[in-house]
Amino acid sequence: MMIKDWLPLFLERHKIRSPRSDWPTPDSADGMEIYRGYLNSFIKIKAKKAEADAASTRVASGESPRFVEDHLPRLLVEIDAVRHDLENASAKPKKAKASPSPEPITSCLDCSGVGLVPLWNSQAAATPTTSAAHCTCAYGRWMRSRTKPADVARIPDLADIRENESQWTTIHPGDFDDAELDRLPASFRRLLAERMRVKPF
Ligand SMILES: [Zn+2]
Repeated sequence: MMIKDWLPLFLERHKIRSPRSDWPTPDSADGMEIYRGYLNSFIKIKAKKAEADAASTRVASGESPRFVEDHLPRLLVEIDAVRHDLENASAKPKKAKASPSPEPITSCLDCSGVGLVPLWNSQAAATPTTSAAHCTCAYGRWMRSRTKPADVARIPDLADIRENESQWTTIHPGDFDDAELDRLPASFRRLLAERMRVKPF
């Protein structure tokens, strides 16, 4: 596609990305002068449509050019930057292949293959707030290994929940009421209390 074929619509997209009240209409004398200026400059640097759009997005996300005439020089600078970024990206060694996704382990008693285990706040039983922890099964481990560091800090690890004291429990607070608890064998109540991180009842 020739530059003159995509330029008119590109200019419209650029105006939408960088709106201002004094953009001349395309068919005005000023508008046609702008069009010719862009066409000549883009031909000179052999601009590609994708580069121009990427540059236009950069201009829009940066500090707005003060005058209408400042837009073309800024676009040219950004097209140059886009080209450098593309060169750098293609020069970089290819990233190591991501580890293949294991099959969800539907037999996992904790997550049933979801990889995430719901957690309840044992200290707010009246209005339990829920969260989720990455499961300790291979699928849960794989999910955690693929999670962004910021999210890993946010999403608990089921292994930690089991090992350390915290307000989180994997037991739904509504699962048992007191009368039901009383009927449970003492050994099971102890086990339950241990998993809920509460005093034996
Ligand atoms: Zn699991």
